[in-house]
Amino acid sequence: MAAAYDVIIIGGGIVGSMIARFLSRFQLKILLIEKRADIGSVTSAANTALIHPGYNAVTGSLKAKMNLIANPMWTQLAQELQFSFDRCGDYVVAVGQDELQKLESLFERGKRNGVLGMNRISGEEMRRREPLINPNVSGALFAETGGMCDPFGATLAAAEHAVLNGVEIRTNTRFEDFVIEDNRVIAVRTNQGDFACRWAINAAGLYSDVIMHKAGVRLEFKVTPRKGEYLILDRAEFELKSVYFPVPTNVSKGILATATVHGNTILGPTARVQDEREDKSNTAAGLEEVLSGGKKLIPNVNTRHVIAMFAGLRAAGNAPCETPGVDYQHDFIIEIPSQVNGFVNIGGIESPGLTSSPAIALRVIDLLRDAGEKLVEKKEWNPNRPARPCFRHMNDAQRRQLIEKDARYGRVICRCENVTEGEIVAEIHAPVPATNYDAIKRRTWLGTGRCQGGFDMTRVTDILARELDRSPLSITKKGRKSELLERPTKIPRERYED
Ligand SMILES: Cc1cc2nc3c(=O)[nH]c(=O)nc-3n(C[C@H](O)[C@H](O)[C@H](O)COP(=O)(O)OP(=O)(O)OC[C@H]3O[C@@H](n4cnc5c(N)ncnc54)[C@H](O)[C@@H]3O)c2cc1C
Repeated sequence: MAAAYDVIIIGGGIVGSMIARFLSRFQLKILLIEKRADIGSVTSAANTALIHPGYNAVTGSLKAKMNLIANPMWTQLAQELQFSFDRCGDYVVAVGQDELQKLESLFERGKRNGVLGMNRISGEEMRRREPLINPNVSGALFAETGGMCDPFGATLAAAEHAVLNGVEIRTNTRFEDFVIEDNRVIAVRTNQGDFACRWAINAAGLYSDVIMHKAGVRLEFKVTPRKGEYLILDRAEFELKSVYFPVPTNVSKGILATATVHGNTILGPTARVQDEREDKSNTAAGLEEVLSGGKKLIPNVNTRHVIAMFAGLRAAGNAPCETPGVDYQHDFIIEIPSQVNGFVNIGGIESPGLTSSPAIALRVIDLLRDAGEKLVEKKEWNPNRPARPCFRHMNDAQRRQLIEKDARYGRVICRCENVTEGEIVAEIHAPVPATNYDAIKRRTWLGTGRCQGGFDMTRVTDILARELDRSPLSITKKGRKSELLERPTKIPRERYED
């Protein structure tokens, strides 16, 4: 067996990374395995990025409970881990008289859930606060505890903090099965060999059902992916002040229009059920729906403002709420199941899973304690993780100082987003290293502007090859089978052998 751990976390999204960060406080040997080439590249990188106040979740559900506990935690987390977060509040906007009634029921649900700082505002006040809003707005619900963050940045920061506090992360390491002896998980079998453990934690998002079934747990539980498509609008053309939801439908919160911490506006998401767990393609019908939904809130949006599109998949489950009297079939699962020992089972973490992730981590700690695990705090645990320099957020004096120390910060690689060679090199050698183009993009925001990587991609490939001491031909966009280059251009195809 390769090595022995106290805890193995399966999946490096926001949930696995937050668990790693909070558990790193204790004297435990922890391994996080992630099957992809980078952490946080699945649902935690493709969502609306909102920290929800908690008025949407069904009263009495575990979702509502986790949302309410986690929401206030984000202020301190963002300070300690230094990722982008803005507690800007959010609005649910009613258009026309009929929708006002629905605002009232959301307000009442929010109060039942214990959401503080909600108030109703008039259509006139809404128009004053956001001049681009539909002039037919009849009223809005404002929740001051709403916020927005960089969800990948939060995932990376949590994972990196865990590494700084002794957690080991192995990417390209796919869980395949459990080794179970005397009804206890004793090891995790992966494509990189077996790793012994006392506890295995399922944080595998869209595959959480597959993993719990391997442990013989909740065989009736099924993840049904629900796709959400988005449009990203050009920052230079269009800027909103805050987060604007329509009144919700029965299946989703509807198509919203929101500012982001990066300054762009996004519209979306749709909510379409599909069988495929890997298909994140955009569709003509989906984008049409996003645009018309966006126009309902912000009528002067048009296709000329669009610079990019993306989609994410919600890991929607079918777990019934366990609170007596609450009839709800899509709750979170966070449990130590009775069928097998040494296994913490998490599943169905759809929205508000990003918001809830720090509370999910705390609940896992409680479950471990309740199961008799002696969690001894490390004396030297430091809650802080320093951010690396971000050139575009600096003033001229700070930039000069940085370039004097390291001239690579004076070489701009991405002109749209002002990202320098120094920043790229720092990410390649960071505690959770970036080893492909998309990993650099998610960390630095390079390639996300108007040219969408047209200018920087060859240069980043060159820097990755140099820093990793590899052939440029081996550099990929997002891991195995996505190589960016085919062959050297000066060698004809028929004479080239790789
Ligand atoms: C369209 C959309 C909008 C959303 N908006 C919001 C929002 O605004 N606010 C909010 O709070 N929530 C939102 N959510 C929900 C939120 O994004 C998710 O709940 C959260 O990101 C889930 O994180 P996770 O770590 O469970 O899953 P993931 O981020 O998917 O991470 C799971 C990880 O497990 C890895 N994995 C899977 N199988 C294996 C295996 N066999 N071996 C090793 N690793 C494995 C995967 O590669 C992945 O990296 C939204 C979701 C979507 C799709």
